[in-house]
Amino acid sequence: SVKQVLAENLPRYVRVNTVKTTVEDAVDYLKRDGFAYLGQASRLEDLTLKEKYFVMDMHLPELLVFPPNTDFHDHFLYKAGHIILQDKASCLPAYLLNPPAGAHIIDACAAPGNKTSHLAAIMKNKGKLFAFDLDAKRLSTMATLLLRSGVTCHQLANQDFLKVDPDSPQFKDVEYVLLDPSCSGSGMVCLRDDASSADQQKVKARLAALACFQLRCLNHGLKFPRLKRLVYSTCSIHSQENEGVVAACLQENPGFRLVNLLSQWPERGLEPLTQCLRANPAKTRTHGFFVALLEKHSGAGRKKQ
Ligand code: SAM
Repeated sequence: SVKQVLAENLPRYVRVNTVKTTVEDAVDYLKRDGFAYLGQASRLEDLTLKEKYFVMDMHLPELLVFPPNTDFHDHFLYKAGHIILQDKASCLPAYLLNPPAGAHIIDACAAPGNKTSHLAAIMKNKGKLFAFDLDAKRLSTMATLLLRSGVTCHQLANQDFLKVDPDSPQFKDVEYVLLDPSCSGSGMVCLRDDASSADQQKVKARLAALACFQLRCLNHGLKFPRLKRLVYSTCSIHSQENEGVVAACLQENPGFRLVNLLSQWPERGLEPLTQCLRANPAKTRTHGFFVALLEKHSGAGRKKQ
């Protein structure tokens, strides 16, 4: 299928885990291991690489880019937690949220923890990272990933985020929320299209249910009293789960506005939400993805009902 061809041709992205190492050390190690480093990419075409060549990404400086299907699962750097195998688009949420060291953060739907470990790296492993997930099995995979990554500033909870009390004293200093809720996954080019028309009704109902859940999570995330910024992301290409959810949320929460993201990024949110980013294989050489960053208006206090 077209999707399969696209998936097989996406670059292999490797995020250097700066909790454990530096980009420089990782690059040196990979060079000694037989890879040839071409420096930092400057345009999309530079991300199309032949065997053994690699570059640094042009948008995300801790991201190294290799030819499609380069396998690192048995590589020392992967086993030692020095690198994380993570698509470029999925590195955007933590990078854009950009919490300072020492911050208190919530990762609302966190397992298996790629974005949590990225947040920890950005915070220099200092602060408090509350991570929730409903699924115990995924949460245990996450504990393993965080252990391998050397992350220690986290607190995992097997809990429904919608039942987390924003007014609990333990969250009183939470200023940042990352919300990456369950979605249709329609942006993942390795997933099969659910195309048969008999299923159309089901697909519609599922999308509506997901969008409803996503909006509830988003509204809930904005309730933390000290919140400054919240990043919302999905690996869906459906506007119903993306711009639709964000627009509805902004209407219900007039104290928040969208932050205009990365002016050099080629693919924007659908009109009128062009402050948001989209990603896809053709324009960004990644899976399909959506990111929005909401911030509290300066001076906008929390409305008391
Ligand atoms: N952020 C993760 C990462 O980067 O590795 C991926 C998160 S995945 C898209 C969505 C997660 O949300 C799933 O692990 C799912 O179990 C979890 N989830 C679904 N409903 C939830 C809820 N009500 N509260 C907390 N987690 C939930």
